[in-house]
Amino acid sequence: MKIAVLAVQGAFEEHEKVLWQLGAETMQLRKAADLEADFDGLILPGGESTVQGKLLRELSMLAPIRDRIGNGLPVFATCAGLILLAEHISGDDATHIGTLPVTVRRNAYGRQLGSFHYAEGSIKGVGNFPMEFIRAPYIERTAKCVDTLAAVEGHIVGVRYKKQLAVAFHPELAGDTRMHQYFLDMI
Ligand code: GLN
Repeated sequence: MKIAVLAVQGAFEEHEKVLWQLGAETMQLRKAADLEADFDGLILPGGESTVQGKLLRELSMLAPIRDRIGNGLPVFATCAGLILLAEHISGDDATHIGTLPVTVRRNAYGRQLGSFHYAEGSIKGVGNFPMEFIRAPYIERTAKCVDTLAAVEGHIVGVRYKKQLAVAFHPELAGDTRMHQYFLDMI
């Protein structure tokens, strides 16, 4: 199985390392031509969604990625990736890929101390999981068709909609491969 990891900015290498542990092949997406390769799934990593969104537009990658996901390409988005994928961003007119029918709030835990937050929460289909939140968003609203997989302290932090999986935390930093295995099983 070959997984493409968006590699224009952010924590993409950490995702690749977890995928290698699970025996998956990876490739990095850095430019529009890379999207012509054959791959079975896509990872949108954490980082800075405004920067990633701007680069995706400048590199003419935004529309092709949106089309591929719309045509059923499985995608796993984490943190900034969730913001890219969301149909609505709270208090913001911007949308990036916009294929996941949820509303996210950016930097939802405040900005103090770099806003690092740790919790252990239960994820439907995975079990108890260590969750690191770094200047993280949470999901304020979901469309009815979206399955909530995890909520922490009253906020939704993990969802699935068809072949789109998205979490507000950083599973690639958890030292635990189960969330990535869930994605591979979903494919
Ligand atoms: N705060 C970042 C954003 O708005 C997300 C942080 C992260 O990906 N760790 O894009």
